[in-house]
Amino acid sequence: MSFNEIRWHPLLGTWNIVASGRATRPWRDVKCPFCPGAPETGEGWDVISLDNRYPSLSTTPVISAAAPSFSETRPGYGRCKVVIETPDHEGDLDTISFKNLVKYVEILGRETEELARDPEIKYVAPFRNKGELIGVSIHHPHSQIYALPFIPLKIERELEFMTRYNREKGTCVICDIVKEEQGGGRVVYSNRDFILILPFYAQWPHECHIYPRRHFQLLSELTAMEKESLADILLITVAMYNSLFSFSLPYMMVIHQAPVKGQHPQYHLHIEFYTIHRYADKLKYAAGIEWGYWAFTYDELPENRVKELKQAARKAVERLGKQQYSPLGVFQP
Ligand SMILES: [Zn+2]
Ligand SMILES: [Zn+2]
Ligand SMILES: [Zn+2]
Repeated sequence: MSFNEIRWHPLLGTWNIVASGRATRPWRDVKCPFCPGAPETGEGWDVISLDNRYPSLSTTPVISAAAPSFSETRPGYGRCKVVIETPDHEGDLDTISFKNLVKYVEILGRETEELARDPEIKYVAPFRNKGELIGVSIHHPHSQIYALPFIPLKIERELEFMTRYNREKGTCVICDIVKEEQGGGRVVYSNRDFILILPFYAQWPHECHIYPRRHFQLLSELTAMEKESLADILLITVAMYNSLFSFSLPYMMVIHQAPVKGQHPQYHLHIEFYTIHRYADKLKYAAGIEWGYWAFTYDELPENRVKELKQAARKAVERLGKQQYSPLGVFQP
């Protein structure tokens, strides 16, 4: 019997996802379940989304036991999806054809829309983990989407502060950042619809954010042009990271969009990339102060890290040129 539940954390005011059936999921080195011809994927595809075979959340959740009085247990209702970005077993978002990258963006938008229709789903979280150091269990390039029965704490916090900023200044904080940082030193790259920036308030080494120029809330609202622009800036971002050191850089990519129930006009969709390498041979850990207190320490001026990224971006463009790709936007010198 496997259980899927969410347990209330009474000290932090958020939910933990508890799933007991996942301990048996495959861990590396087994035959790739995502390569073409595998039972899950079949043949004749370029980008596909599937249900995760070992989901943390379920559409038929069973609760293990009632919660003690100081907490609460609810069914772990939700969906976990996998988006397989290429039939190739190795690679990253910068080795996929531009056409398929646009398709990838379209799938994320379509999944957001479909998952949002479920009355129980409050939040759709698309993310991508890359590299063994990040804990990836299957090497084949893929992203994941969690459709959650609650709004994650970080999103609640962003929503609260975007709303507060709007109340105090009458504008949107991300719109203001895009305006003020435009043409400035922290911007690495920008195209018609998005900017790539190492934020003033970065927490991880080489952390970068992608901000849309237009103020909107959900991936399902991307215009056809914006889908192309987003594919372009994702390609540039990942190619830049993979040119930073002499190896393919592990990272987490998270798409922060608005909750899918109710109206959240203050929220401005964006994408965040977290990297853990301070140097080629030195990692940044979320240790006592970071994880224990959520107080991040950054061991260099973010403005100096941007210089390293700009150098990497130049190398990336050369490499992409050899793959016949020319960026749609411009690099900030
Ligand atoms: Zn594979
Ligand atoms: Zn905005
Ligand atoms: Zn965010």
